[in-house]
Amino acid sequence: MTTIHTLGFPRIGAQRELKRGVEAYWKGDLNQAALLDQAAALRRQHWQWQAEAGLERVTVGDFAYYDQVLNHIALFGCAPRRFGFGPQLTLDQYFELARGNAGQFALEMTKWFDTNYHYLVPEFHPDTTFTLDPRWLLYELAQARALGHAAKPVLIGPLTFLWLGKARLGHNEQAAACCGSAHHHEFDRLDLLDRLLPCYQALLAELAAQGVEWVQIDEPALTLDLPAHWLARLAPVYEMLSQTGPKLLLATYFDSVAEHAARLQALPVAGLHLDLVRAPAQLDRFLAGWPADKVLSAGIIDGRNIWRADLGRCLEQLGNARRALGDRLWLAPSCSLLHVPVDLEQEARLDGELRSWLAFARQKLGELGLLKHALDQGRVAVHQALQANRAAIDARATSSRIHDPAVATRLAHVSANDEHRQSVFPARQAAQRRRFALPLLPTTTIGSFPQTAAIRQARAAFKRGELSDAQYQAAMRAEIGLVVQKQEALGLDVLVHGEAERNDMVEYFGEQLAGFAFTEHGWVQSYGSRCVKPPIIYGDVSRPQPMTVEWSRYAQSLTERPMKGMLTGPVTILQWSFVRNDQPRSATAQQIALAIRDEVVDLEAAGIGIIQIDEPAYREGLPLKRRDWPAYLDWAARAFRLAASGVRDDTQIHTHMCYAEFNDILPAIAAMDADVITIETSRSDMELLEGFGEFAYPNEIGPGVYDIHSPRIPRVEEMVRLLGKAVSVIPLERLWVNPDCGLKTRGWPETETALSAMVEAARLMRVRLAEHRAEPING
Ligand code: GLN
Ligand code: ZN
Repeated sequence: MTTIHTLGFPRIGAQRELKRGVEAYWKGDLNQAALLDQAAALRRQHWQWQAEAGLERVTVGDFAYYDQVLNHIALFGCAPRRFGFGPQLTLDQYFELARGNAGQFALEMTKWFDTNYHYLVPEFHPDTTFTLDPRWLLYELAQARALGHAAKPVLIGPLTFLWLGKARLGHNEQAAACCGSAHHHEFDRLDLLDRLLPCYQALLAELAAQGVEWVQIDEPALTLDLPAHWLARLAPVYEMLSQTGPKLLLATYFDSVAEHAARLQALPVAGLHLDLVRAPAQLDRFLAGWPADKVLSAGIIDGRNIWRADLGRCLEQLGNARRALGDRLWLAPSCSLLHVPVDLEQEARLDGELRSWLAFARQKLGELGLLKHALDQGRVAVHQALQANRAAIDARATSSRIHDPAVATRLAHVSANDEHRQSVFPARQAAQRRRFALPLLPTTTIGSFPQTAAIRQARAAFKRGELSDAQYQAAMRAEIGLVVQKQEALGLDVLVHGEAERNDMVEYFGEQLAGFAFTEHGWVQSYGSRCVKPPIIYGDVSRPQPMTVEWSRYAQSLTERPMKGMLTGPVTILQWSFVRNDQPRSATAQQIALAIRDEVVDLEAAGIGIIQIDEPAYREGLPLKRRDWPAYLDWAARAFRLAASGVRDDTQIHTHMCYAEFNDILPAIAAMDADVITIETSRSDMELLEGFGEFAYPNEIGPGVYDIHSPRIPRVEEMVRLLGKAVSVIPLERLWVNPDCGLKTRGWPETETALSAMVEAARLMRVRLAEHRAEPING
C-alpha cells in the first residue's frame, strides 16, 4: 500500500476563522477558552479532510496561533531574554513576542525561504539556553489521537532552526537595535547546536513514549548554499536523533538537494522527502543506490501553486521509483500546503472552465488519494477520475483563453533595441536636467499618501455599486487635489498623485490586465493573522486599455511641478501572484513587461515626464541557490528594461525598492538602468550605501532619509546628518531626498510634519553645500 501524507496544511481556515479569532482575542472580544476551542475545531476539520482523502497519518504540529517558527521558540524555551519571560510561555507572552509589548519591540520578521510567508526570526546570543516545553505539541497530538487519527508530528529540524535565527552579541535592546546589518560582529549560531540537541532528544523520546511511529523533521535549509561546517554537522546530528525512538522522515523542499545525495542516503534516518516539483531531476540521482530499508517521500503535487496536477504525468514520473521502492515510495505535496488557499469548493463565482484547472489544499489531498489508488489498484480502478483529469489538463493546454496570438506575435518581434533606452544614462541625464531644471537634492515621495478611512470607504462603496462611476471619480479627484495642494505647500519638487484609487499595488493592475483572475476566498497566510489573496495569472498578459493615465493626467493638470506616474513593475507583479506553470516565469515576466511598457508610453504621451516603476519584490525573486542568481537577475533586468525603455531620453524613469540589502546584487540593479532608484537606508544609518559608493553606481539615487514604518517623526538634524553621510558616498548631483517607502499606512498629521522636516533638511543641506563648496562634507 502506498502511503500518502502532507508536510503541512493551511491553518487559517477556509473562512479565515483563525484570523478572525486571533484578532478578536487581541481586541478583547473573545476569551482565551473560546479561541482555543476555535483552534481545536479548525484542526479537527483539517485532520478530517486528511483522513477522508486517505492519508493514514494526519499531520500534527503544523498549527500555529501566529507562526510555526515562533512555535519552536516556545517549544524550546528560547524567547529572547530581553522579554524576561520564563521557559514556559503563556499564550499572551507568545503573542507579545510576535507583536511587541510596552517595553520591547517584537521579534523581527522575514520571508520563509522564497515564499511570501513571513516567519518570526529567533534571536540567538552566545548564552542562549534551551528548555523543552512540549505542552502545546503534546496537547495537539492528544487531540488528534482522541479523534481517532494516527498522527505524524512535524518539527523544524535543528540545523534549519538555528540557520533561520539571527545571531546577536549582547541581549539588551541597544545591542539588538544596532545589529540590524549582517556584518556586525556575530558569533556562529551553530555553536548553540550542542545545547539545543538535548531538547530534540527529549522531545523525540517523549513522542516515542506516546506511541508516535513517524516524526517529520523539516530541514529546508539543506536546499540553500550552507557553509561546509554546517553541513558537516548533518550526519552526527541525525545519528544522534535517530537513536531516540520514532522513525524520522527528513523533509527537504523548495529546491534540489542532489548535491548532498550521498550524504543524505547514508543518514541513519528512516525516510527522506524530496521536492519533485521544483527539482524533478533529483529523483534519479537519489534512486540510484537508494538504501533497501529507507522510505522515499516524493513531493509530487505542487504545494506552491494552485494548478490541478497532471496525474498521468505524475504517474509516469513515479514509474521508476515505484518499481524500485514498492511500498517504500510515499507521496506528498512538494512542501507544506501552507502556501496555497484552503478549498476551491468555495469559489462559486469563478467560471467553471477556469475552476476546472485549479486545485487548492483540499483538492491537492484528493489528487494524492487518486495517485495512491492508481498505484495500488492499477489505473483502471480510477479510470474515470484520471480521464476527467486528462480532459481538464488538455482543455487548459489548448484553451483560447490562455493563448493570445497577438501576444505571441508581439513577443516574437521584441528586439534587443526594445530592451534599451535610446541613449546611455549621461545623455539622458543631461536631457532630463534641461527639461526639469530641478534643484540640487530634489525632494520627492515614494507614491502613496495616507489612505484615510474616507478613501477606503469610497473605494469599497464603488466596488459594491453604491457609488456611481461619476461619484467615485469625483471623490478620488478631490483626494488628488488635496495631496497636490499639500505637496506644493510642503515645497516638494517632484509630486505624486497619492494612489488613493489603489488598495493593492499588484491587484490594481492585475484587475485591468488580460490573463489575470481573482478568487473570492483564495487567502494565503502572509504573517500572523495577515492573509493575502494573490491574483492568478492564467493566460497571456496584455493591456486592453490605459490603466492609470487619466488619474495622472488629471493630477498633472493641477500643478506646474512634475507629476510622477506610478506603476508596479513586471517582476513584482509576477512575484506576488500565482503564476502559470506552463511556461517559464521569465516568459510571463516578459509579457507583463510589454503591458507595462504600453502604459509607460501612454503616460509619456499624456505629458507625464517622470514615471516610477516600483519593484519592491525584485530581490525576493532571487533563487535559493546562488548558482541560479545570474540567470534570474538577467531576465528580471531585461523585463524591467523592456517595460521602461519605450520612452524618450528626457522622460525620467524611477524605480523603488523598499529594502537595503543590495550590495551583493548591485551590478544587477545597475543593469536595470533606471534613471533614479529610491531605496531604504535610513534604518541602517546609510551604511548600506557604502556598496553604492564602492561599486560606483552610475545613475541617480534617493536613499530613504526616514523610516516610514514607524510613527516616529524624524528631526531635521537627523536627516541632515544622514544626507551628509550619503553625500560622502554618492556624488551630490546624483542624490535625491525622499522617505524610504510609501506613506499609505501613516496618518496625515505625522506625514506632514515629517515631510516638512525632510524638505527643510534638503534646504539646509543645499545651503551648507553652497557655503562649503570646496570642502568635503561630512557628518
Ligand atoms: N508606490 C508604492 C507606494 O508608495 C510603493 C509601495 C512599495 O514599495 N511596497 O505605496
Ligand atoms: Zn517601498
